[in-house]
Amino acid sequence: MRVGWIGLGAMGGPMAGNLAAAGHDVLAYDLSARALSESPVPVADSAAAAAADADVLVTMLPKGEHVRSALVESGALAALSPQALVIDSSTIAVADAEDLAALVTETGRRFIDAPVSGGVAGAQAGTLTFMVGGADADLDLARGLLDAMGSRTFHVGATGSGQAAKMLNNLMLAVNMASTCEAASLGARLGVDPATLVEIAAVSTGDSWALRNYYPVGGVVPSAPSNRDFRDGFAATLMRKDLGLALDAAETVGLDLPATAHVAQRMDAMITDGDGGMDFSAMIRLFDAPAAATAGGTR
Ligand code: NAD
Repeated sequence: MRVGWIGLGAMGGPMAGNLAAAGHDVLAYDLSARALSESPVPVADSAAAAAADADVLVTMLPKGEHVRSALVESGALAALSPQALVIDSSTIAVADAEDLAALVTETGRRFIDAPVSGGVAGAQAGTLTFMVGGADADLDLARGLLDAMGSRTFHVGATGSGQAAKMLNNLMLAVNMASTCEAASLGARLGVDPATLVEIAAVSTGDSWALRNYYPVGGVVPSAPSNRDFRDGFAATLMRKDLGLALDAAETVGLDLPATAHVAQRMDAMITDGDGGMDFSAMIRLFDAPAAATAGGTR
């Protein structure tokens, strides 16, 4: 099975690498010369060339507009084999996924939305969680590929429902991180040893992925971006995008999400300060400069 791949960023690069390591014939493309030069898989000189006669095309791009451009406007969709399956693993709006599915299926090809959770470490380790929206038969075709890049695949429902599940997951992640930042700051002021706090909360009711993996103060959790000046994590700009998707969805059903809106404002403040590329846990610096000053402790 020939696989075309578009998007070799922080997530797409290692995911494509795992697919190739599992024996799949992958040919990739990215707009960035740096991403192309660092690619773990063979690269083409255009999206259409990467997609030419492929049986499956995977897109791993920032936003819906990028997926549309890379898939449709580039000519990649038209270059695919007539029965090809398009797997979009980017995190995009439900409505964008539905529109893309319509564009793909009207050419006789197939589409599933398959966004992921697990971060860059999960992409590298091949332990991502996939949340899939689309037809059973299309997921059956994709399953072997998804298994090479992740350890769990959930079939959520019809087209777009994978994106809905992903958006809800990230809403919880964002709010969990905000509360973890506030507990980390207050705990430091109260003289609670941060390693002890993490150890307790991790087996208590304050537990979360944010706490155990991305603790916002350095020197406590080895995998956390706070140990490396908040680099190589989940960029605030991407988290802001996901919270915007959640807030838009809530508005369409007449729901108010005050905690989500508050974290979105924190992401906006980071972006305004020029810190949009930093991991979203750097939001701790917005209200607690001393705690942030201890970040970088284990570099
Ligand atoms: P990234 O910014 O590191 O990579 C995106 C890549 O897409 C870049 O290399 C860019 O050059 C390329 N690109 C953009 N437009 C293109 C086009 N038209 N044609 C070809 N290449 C194009 O982003 P990422 O962190 O890899 O995230 C990708 C998606 O996965 C996003 O939707 C993000 O929300 C989601 N996601 C990210 C994480 C994470 O921890 N980084 C975790 C889960 C999901």
